[in-house]
Amino acid sequence: MKNKTCLLFIGILLSVSIFAQNVNNIQMPELLNESVRKTINIPNILGYQTLKCDFHTHTVFSDGVVWPTVRIDEAWQEGLDAIAITDHIEGNPSKDQIEGDHNSSYEIALPRAIQKNIILIHAGEITRDMPPGHFNALFLKDTNPLDTPDYMEAFKAASEQGAYIIWNHPGWKSQQPDTCKWWDIHTELYEKGWLNGIEVFNEKEWYPIALDWCVEKDLAITAASDIHGITAGMYNLQKYHRPMTLVLAKKRTEESIREALFDNRTVAWFGNNLAGKEEYLKAIFETAVDIRFYNETRRGKVYIANNNSDVPFHLISDAGQKFNIPANGETMITLKENNRNFEVNNLFVKGTKNLKISLNLSE
Ligand SMILES: [Zn+2]
Ligand SMILES: [Zn+2]
Repeated sequence: MKNKTCLLFIGILLSVSIFAQNVNNIQMPELLNESVRKTINIPNILGYQTLKCDFHTHTVFSDGVVWPTVRIDEAWQEGLDAIAITDHIEGNPSKDQIEGDHNSSYEIALPRAIQKNIILIHAGEITRDMPPGHFNALFLKDTNPLDTPDYMEAFKAASEQGAYIIWNHPGWKSQQPDTCKWWDIHTELYEKGWLNGIEVFNEKEWYPIALDWCVEKDLAITAASDIHGITAGMYNLQKYHRPMTLVLAKKRTEESIREALFDNRTVAWFGNNLAGKEEYLKAIFETAVDIRFYNETRRGKVYIANNNSDVPFHLISDAGQKFNIPANGETMITLKENNRNFEVNNLFVKGTKNLKISLNLSE
């Protein structure tokens, strides 16, 4: 009886203490998204670091809907190395609600970028009717001088700051509804050194003809999100990464990115596709893929093909034999008569030309 009373007393005490502990604030950290940065798996090649960059994003300082620091948090979570915030220089629908100038989005985002180890490139989007269209000027020191009525003056102001200038979405239907045309003004900009790269892919649009221009004129091949909302709302990030430019840089620094861009060491990545110079695509394929002999059957030699990258490879041989090497996985392939010559259907060296490879088959 004594023991029972004692237990009851302890029970009351415990419940009172639990009750007292719980009424004011109970933390439920299990609801939170863990602060995990995704890893993007694309190999370093040819002695360079493969940096993952999105050089075209917007914020509330033009027609985007997010505060500049959100761009940094997204980039960090998605595994990017560098971004540029490229708010429109002309036409800002929120200018009556939000104070600031053309440098504000950069200045607000920079402390967060430093905190999160994201390289933030100071930039702005020259936004004109076609021709000439829209252009991102990267590596600016001050975006405000680009706000001038004459667009050639804007290019000049960018160039005087040593800017790197990319022609954005050349085939955007709002500006080129039936065609993707290179105008005379683009030749003039190119000849002045005021056109250094082109987006062959923007948001969800791919412009194969623009890849041919890059190859012919030795311009950097780029892809970008041009994101205005949040990336997780726009893209299927469970299945794909946002479109981006892979920059082959000597170091993971802004200066190295700049040097690599001016040397055209870039590859555009969009969906499961890569577009770039043959030597870079070949190096990515050969570094990522390992094919080793397994055994021999009546149907041919069997190999195990392993792919250590986020890009799947869709191969087709001269004889029409097809197989896919999945991203971050492996498959077994049977090759007839030592058939080693393939095209990689999702790797583009020109608008309508795929990378050709000869498989390195280790016995
Ligand atoms: Zn634009
Ligand atoms: Zn834009």
